[in-house]
Amino acid sequence: MNTSTSQNLFEKAQHYIPGGVNSPVRAFRAVGGTPIFIKSAKGAYVYDEDGNEYIELINSWGPMILGHANELIQQAVSDAIQHSFSFGAPTRKEVEMAELIVSMVPSIEKVRMVNSGTEATMSAIRVARGFTGRDKIIKFEGCYHGHGDSFLIAAGSGAATFGTPDSPGVTKGVAHDTLTAPFNDLAAVQQLVDANKEQIAALILEPVVGNMGCVLPAEGFLAGLRRICDEEGTVLILDEVMTGFRLAKGGAQERFGITPDLTTLGKIIGGGMPVGAYGGRAEIMNWVSPAGPVYQAGTLSGNPIAMAAGLTMLNYLNEHPEVYSQLENSGNKLVTGFKNSQEKLGLNYTLNHIGSMYTLFFTDQPVTDLSSAKSSDLVLFGKYFHAMLNRGIYMGPSQFEAMFLSTALTDDHLNKIIQANEDSLKEIQSL
Ligand code: PMP
Repeated sequence: MNTSTSQNLFEKAQHYIPGGVNSPVRAFRAVGGTPIFIKSAKGAYVYDEDGNEYIELINSWGPMILGHANELIQQAVSDAIQHSFSFGAPTRKEVEMAELIVSMVPSIEKVRMVNSGTEATMSAIRVARGFTGRDKIIKFEGCYHGHGDSFLIAAGSGAATFGTPDSPGVTKGVAHDTLTAPFNDLAAVQQLVDANKEQIAALILEPVVGNMGCVLPAEGFLAGLRRICDEEGTVLILDEVMTGFRLAKGGAQERFGITPDLTTLGKIIGGGMPVGAYGGRAEIMNWVSPAGPVYQAGTLSGNPIAMAAGLTMLNYLNEHPEVYSQLENSGNKLVTGFKNSQEKLGLNYTLNHIGSMYTLFFTDQPVTDLSSAKSSDLVLFGKYFHAMLNRGIYMGPSQFEAMFLSTALTDDHLNKIIQANEDSLKEIQSL
């Protein structure tokens, strides 16, 4: 495979951009080699600068749930740009957007649009702190909630990959207010709460984790957290930036039957444009300025082009429940195929999966939290990643990421991924 144009671009990029990329994991540091530079994408495929074609399993880290360059969204954006790009003033579309989000996610009574998942989580803990009058928060090791200072403590995704969970630049004062527990460990949460009575403003988590690879909540874990938060007057925040509108129309909270106080959203909600949102109980959201005293603002928040894309995406998902059955079927088919291959090859790697998210961990231990995720053989993962890339499958370049399926994947694509997986596993084991 010729990737010389990508290599040249990456060399140049490193002169002008830190590490040559605008978000760390894109640099392929965890797997070695040169990142491929993407030129275009359509449906289930991305194309790089050298003209190579790949089947998509990243899908922009989640947003492209309907595949790339969806015609409805293209049309909506193209219509919207006729009326200028930004007003910094209220618009009809953002009202429609808020109304639609509230109807799709019943725990959300009021919602504020922002520009990224990072902004959504930063704002959600600020309002939780304002509302409770408390300072501390609890997060889980390996969960990633964007790059706000409070969350760069035992964080997942790029932070886990790079082994710098406590980033320089995050002050001790901020770190002091973030308490961490292992995912799926209710007893550890209870201990933290008991040791910090009436001091915990919020507990935040990815209800299904994508950022240490795909990790599911154990039976009773989410309900246990809800109970602890109720007992302690702590605001329960579900970070559904990845899972929102993906695991069900109403997100992981619908799928697992758990009602949070606040929810953070991103990715799919913008249809590929830079959008995030946070929302929840009106009693809490009414603390947000100008309704209340907790300040949060944004020049481009509710941007009309982003709203046009996001609203079209959400309307489509709202009106087409078959999207979710298709994604379930695709996920099940893929995982069944992977399992069959492993059986054939006498391998027993852990495959975590729910709906249209999965991670193949190069360990035979069950993966239920960050430390078990870290038992994976990262060198082997790197080899597997490149073996898949060489076979035209574009995966997240780190063991600590989830893959995201789109509705653009046909049976034929899924069969190709299954075959590539089997051949790649054979190649890296020299079986
Ligand atoms: N929360 C979760 C669960 C995420 O997966 C991410 C990004 N991958 C974020 C927050 C941050 O979102 P953004 O990158 O849009 O700032």
